[in-house]
Amino acid sequence: MKSRRIQVLDPRLTNQIAAGEVVERPASVLKELVENAIDAGSRRIELELEAGGAKLIRVRDDGSGIGAEDLPLALSRHATSKIFSLEELEEVASLGFRGEALASISSVSRLELVSNREDDPKSGWRVVAEGRQMEPRISPAPHPRGTSVIVRDLFFNTPARRKFLRTEKTEFGHAEEAFRRLALSRYDIGWVLRHNQKVIHQLRPGDDDLAREKRLGALLGKGFLDNALHLDLEASGLRLWGWVGLPTHSRAQADQQYFFVNGRVVKDRLVAHAIRQAYRDVLFHGRQPVFVLYLELDPQLVDVNVHPTKHEVRFRDGRLVHDFLFSSLHRALGETRAGTVQTGRV
Ligand code: ADP
Ligand code: MG
Repeated sequence: MKSRRIQVLDPRLTNQIAAGEVVERPASVLKELVENAIDAGSRRIELELEAGGAKLIRVRDDGSGIGAEDLPLALSRHATSKIFSLEELEEVASLGFRGEALASISSVSRLELVSNREDDPKSGWRVVAEGRQMEPRISPAPHPRGTSVIVRDLFFNTPARRKFLRTEKTEFGHAEEAFRRLALSRYDIGWVLRHNQKVIHQLRPGDDDLAREKRLGALLGKGFLDNALHLDLEASGLRLWGWVGLPTHSRAQADQQYFFVNGRVVKDRLVAHAIRQAYRDVLFHGRQPVFVLYLELDPQLVDVNVHPTKHEVRFRDGRLVHDFLFSSLHRALGETRAGTVQTGRV
């Protein structure tokens, strides 16, 4: 290649490069928009998709809203209201903090955001961005308190990426799975998911056992709870609660495994290892356990700034976490081994 001069990249291009890391398909857009709605303190989040999300993804919340003066910034890169210092990064409790999602998504789609911080439903502002770095245009637009983000024609200006999109059914499957994880992360939020004008899920908020079990049934099927143990254990400042499937209820695929760390969906090798070990001598070779587990610990003991999608974490004391997970699960499963429990609570 001919040697050329070094140049600083155009901002639109840097956003599109960043989008390569976080925006893989409609499901990733859904995740980012919903995480923002959760961070805004929403009690109710409604999602609407068309054509698997490739044509349209709309997320509407009743959270804090964004003021007119902040709206253009919301779409710029490295602009966030969630952290302001390294100290805050080290104990971040919000799902977002990189200030990249809206900038990335708007660089590869037609994005519209309408928001209102006031209680007056006649006030509100709209900002539109269309795949290019331009001064975002702001105009008045009524909206109840909260925010709606509408993402149309994902990858319309990046044909190479659009080619990677699969069929509508496959893309919706990924989007629904992302929805499932998010809805399992916050029982206190009410949710609606629509696809092509049809209601796919409608979940009432509720933070008591009954409401949680109802949601698990709706999202994972009734069979899940009939074959799961409930557990809630605490030691050394760590709490693990949730449901683990009985060894007899294993699956061929690892497709019903949900692990949350401080409300964030996490895929972690250390966690996976501890769970595998705990199930080792109760599960047939090659079978996969099912579980929905919540680990809660001091945010300072876990680093979430490992990867742009934030699916990975780093525990300050990995050994402690591993041993706690292993012993909690081993104990819970041990009671099934001894034949004292069928399903129910530990
Ligand atoms: P991050 O979430 O990492 O801060 P984003 O690009 O996802 O970055 O969002 C940028 C900013 O826009 C957020 O910090 C927040 O202030 C604001 N914002 C985005 N979505 C919402 C929403 N649904 N409700 C309220 N504020 C929002
Ligand atoms: Mg965000």
